[in-house]
Amino acid sequence: MAQNEDLEEKKLLGSGGYAFAKLTEQEEIKASLGIPQIFLGNAGRLNEDRFTKYYCNKCQKEYPGSPVISYENPNEDLGEDIVLIEKGEYRCRICSNLIALYRRFNKQ
Ligand SMILES: [Zn+2]
Repeated sequence: MAQNEDLEEKKLLGSGGYAFAKLTEQEEIKASLGIPQIFLGNAGRLNEDRFTKYYCNKCQKEYPGSPVISYENPNEDLGEDIVLIEKGEYRCRICSNLIALYRRFNKQ
């Protein structure tokens, strides 16, 4: 129940394309920052099964499924008690074009 509650398909914008993914209301609020557009970079890491399709600006094509997600956990201390916990990226499966980057800190 709780997990799949109110999942809604949304368009998430990235610098190199966009993706369609199913988000919970909380995730949508977090990723939109109060403006109508939702940014993939603000959504952070979503499970691949959340994605229905994505569009790559370089291929100028839409593909089914999710872009390739890769990430690392540097746990880098940036000072002032801020730690970079995770940085990751979404890339096109076909041409490796960068679709979006995200960063996750200990404090948001
Ligand atoms: Zn591509």
